[in-house]
Amino acid sequence: MRKFWLLLTLALILSLPFSGSVQADPGSETGQTQTLSAFVENWTESEVQDQADTTPLPSADPEKKAYLTFDDGPDPVWSPQVLAVLRKYQAHATFYMIGRNSSTFQDTVLAIASDGNTLANHSYNHYDLTTLNFQGFSLEVGDTEQSIRNALKDHPELASQVTKCLRPPYGKSNETVYAYATRMGYSISMWNLDTRDWAGLAPEAILANFSDKLQPDRVILFHDGGEDRQNTIEALDLVLHELIMQGYEILPYCTETGQAIIGG
Ligand SMILES: [Zn+2]
Repeated sequence: MRKFWLLLTLALILSLPFSGSVQADPGSETGQTQTLSAFVENWTESEVQDQADTTPLPSADPEKKAYLTFDDGPDPVWSPQVLAVLRKYQAHATFYMIGRNSSTFQDTVLAIASDGNTLANHSYNHYDLTTLNFQGFSLEVGDTEQSIRNALKDHPELASQVTKCLRPPYGKSNETVYAYATRMGYSISMWNLDTRDWAGLAPEAILANFSDKLQPDRVILFHDGGEDRQNTIEALDLVLHELIMQGYEILPYCTETGQAIIGG
């Protein structure tokens, strides 16, 4: 309504000198019309600009999915800080846990699950799984799963967040590892975007590395344990901000139904 009255007033004001000058100077008709349309166009643009300033963050584009994963936790110092950043962006991730950590830091396992994240397997001792026979493999994977389930034993509503996904330490895998995993009902979960947060990079350098590699359907590798993760915490904030501004939907890679199918 405000816009209508403003336009009407403008039209009236501009029509007064315009109607008197048409015969004297035909060129002025074009001039006045351009002035009016230019003013309205500018006014409309500034109105749109005002709206843009107050528009909330862009909503997710269904074509743009990013899968967030963390390895080497749970860690009682770093995992809660990761969780705080995830909550800030209302994002969820899959946490590939080392069994000796999940058996020691059960409260941290529970905190990760309580926030709606999914829990997955990164072996008990972070061994190279290609060196193990099936007995060793099944202990590494089975004991890790058991320690995670123990941490959630008083919260049966969280049990469905324990997944059958295994990320081999160091990404080292072969046909035997795949066969052993299958025999235990597990899928092997790799990644396709390494943030290199393990390489001692500053948060800005992690973001730059991430931005260079970002495209839809990336499985993003971060770490929430193993060493000082201060740079990871700060980089995660930058990365999640970037993903949301670019319209990405941020999802855990592995859920109760298995790991996401990655196209391309
Ligand atoms: Zn690892």
